Amino acid sequence: MEKFKIDEQGYYGEFGGAYIPEILHQNVEDLQNSYLQILNDPSFQAEYQLLLKDYVGRPSPLYLSPKLSKKYGCKIFLKREDLNHTGAHKINNALGQVLLAQRMGKTRIIAETGAGQHGIATATVCALMGMPCTVYMGATDVERQSVNVEKMIMLGAKVVSVYSGNQTLKDATNEAIRDWCSHPQDTHYVIGSTVGPHPYPDMVARLQSIISKEAREQLLEQEGTEKPDYVVACVGGGSNAAGMIYNFLDDEEVQIYLAEAGGKGADTPYTAATIHCGTLGVIHGSKTLLMQTADGQVIEPYSISAGLDYPGIGPMHAYLSQIGRTHVLSINDDEAMNAALFLTRQEGIIPAIESSHALAALKYISFKPTDRVIVCLSGRGDKDLNTYLNYFKNEN
Ligand SMILES: *Cc1c(COP(=O)(O)O)cnc(C)c1O
Repeated sequence: MEKFKIDEQGYYGEFGGAYIPEILHQNVEDLQNSYLQILNDPSFQAEYQLLLKDYVGRPSPLYLSPKLSKKYGCKIFLKREDLNHTGAHKINNALGQVLLAQRMGKTRIIAETGAGQHGIATATVCALMGMPCTVYMGATDVERQSVNVEKMIMLGAKVVSVYSGNQTLKDATNEAIRDWCSHPQDTHYVIGSTVGPHPYPDMVARLQSIISKEAREQLLEQEGTEKPDYVVACVGGGSNAAGMIYNFLDDEEVQIYLAEAGGKGADTPYTAATIHCGTLGVIHGSKTLLMQTADGQVIEPYSISAGLDYPGIGPMHAYLSQIGRTHVLSINDDEAMNAALFLTRQEGIIPAIESSHALAALKYISFKPTDRVIVCLSGRGDKDLNTYLNYFKNEN
């Protein structure tokens, strides 16, 4: 068994597994039994890689940022997932899962979405593949992210507003699982991050691992070495981070720093810093760290970034941080917003607020002048313009 990867039972240390209702056992078992075979099948890989190249626009560039490099006194590279079709890394996973669903004979796709990025990626691939698509979204998020809802409708998806709980991502996920329970035969549930029952965390990590596969090749071409000294990424559920670190995990000299959303501070009630504040529990089919009260009620997370306010964390990240392979920093709203403004004004790149958490983490690391650092720029900030403009209007 590989030291940092999933074991045969679907666990990373004590985290992971598949805690699901009886009715989904067959579905999840089918997926467990076939995902590796399908992902490793040459005809699957040929179709997937061709679409990644010509449809998504990969490889995404590895860009040496002169201004960030100057600011931090070393070489800082940005892995430009923001340049992918639909504006983030999420399409790598959505594309792979819809292709896999077709090979498993599924005829209908469902997904959950928070900010809407995963919903758009899934609706996009379903349009391409001619698959009917239903996206569950909390009513609060539907209101906050109306442009993204309009895009999904334009793409032909059915968007269902969820009115239970706080009407955000956690509730949308519950509703998507309920739909899956009533249509286990024909439906594939495309989960948008490295969360959920086994095999989702491992499957999503593998589909996102293209990020670090390319980064190694690009660094070799540009710098004559495949290994950076540091890789840095933000973590919500953990998929862009999983993709950015996947092919570096076994190179233990590569240091990994991850940024979770501190919100107004990990020591306040307004936070989404799950690794700092979470305790062991079960959420959405997997045993992991989650923010909960002493009697097991899920605590509503808060972050200025809709893509990071999830009360759980992928089991892979709970484990890697527990064993010390990754260092997880809690980055507050203000730090992320200021890092976004710096990149925007100095490099002409408007990052997603999620990605800005990774940029803000740089100031907590002491670099040597010879260090090479790769930051995953997971998405672009078009969706966040209102939040940015309102924030800086009030600040200045
Ligand atoms: C969804 C999203 C994230 C957070 O999800 P992960 O699964 O943790 O990657 C980060 N960045 C962007 C741009 C996103 O859209």
